[in-house]
Amino acid sequence: MAINTEVLSARYRAASVDLEGRRLLITNFLNTEQEKDLSEPPNCGGIGRIRHFRRLVSSSWPLNPLPIDPAILALGLPSTDMIRAQVFQNAACNWRCWYCYVPFDLLRANPDYSDWLSPATLIDRYLDQPDPPPIIDLTGGQPDLVPEWVPWMMAEIKNRGLEQQIYLWSDDNLSNDYFWKFLSNADIELIATYPKYGRVCCFKGFNAESFAFNTSAEPALFDQQFELLRRLLTLGIDLYAYATFTSPSNVDIAEDMRRFVDRLQMLDENLPLRTVPLQIQEFTPVKQRLNQDIYSVLHNQQIAIEAWRHELESRYSSEERACNIASVHLYGVS
Ligand code: SF4
Repeated sequence: MAINTEVLSARYRAASVDLEGRRLLITNFLNTEQEKDLSEPPNCGGIGRIRHFRRLVSSSWPLNPLPIDPAILALGLPSTDMIRAQVFQNAACNWRCWYCYVPFDLLRANPDYSDWLSPATLIDRYLDQPDPPPIIDLTGGQPDLVPEWVPWMMAEIKNRGLEQQIYLWSDDNLSNDYFWKFLSNADIELIATYPKYGRVCCFKGFNAESFAFNTSAEPALFDQQFELLRRLLTLGIDLYAYATFTSPSNVDIAEDMRRFVDRLQMLDENLPLRTVPLQIQEFTPVKQRLNQDIYSVLHNQQIAIEAWRHELESRYSSEERACNIASVHLYGVS
């Protein structure tokens, strides 16, 4: 049965934010399954981890410049193929993507694996390390179950006069309208005008079928992902997109990919140039969550990425495709 996204979003929001105390529920990685997957031990007393973002993913996949290029452009750093980020993870998500690298036990506002923390404590712990990374990454879970998290962090960073030194990056799975429902105009204004912030929105498939297969949510919410991104584009935020292309079916992939890229371009002519496909790779925990043969799902992903490449090659010149992702102009929508 599909997830009831509305019900789950409301439940997890209620369980993971303390509005009066200005605190939110952050995953504590100590003694979790996720801790075993980390290349370095958790930091910040267990509630943070260092992530190395790398441009090169694999030989069969396009490069991933996020958030490397937006961060180095914003901070004036030299070009690089790897950058360190301080990751904080909120302790809830309203979807259950089979390929998620976060164990599902850490996505249900589980008090055993999380702490109530304020943005001030997060920044204190971030600063209290020998070599704080240049990026703070607010990830999930689904950070937008508590959209206040981003403006709270911005206000805290500004209070300390650090807004020119830290690049703030956050994820959004495009699953709800909480940004518009719960943020004040002042919060939205702060986000829209904050100097060094990038936001990446994740499309969980290239058609309704792959979306539902990947997330366990209702297929109709695939369309909603475009509408949610359209609204964010009106704000002029420095926006990017990820897309995952794993699919249970190999029927009409080329045609559906054409339509997917059409729809991105209907939001903004250049949005496909700011969209990065993410390669889903086989590893044991996620394989166990699939009822279907993982090899056909990954094979379909490979067909889809070739279709994606074909679409971009037919729509943009080689110069446009080679452009730094952070310099790709968005025309904006109103
Ligand atoms: S939306 Fe993100 S955090 Fe949630 S299940 Fe999917 S991949 Fe995991």
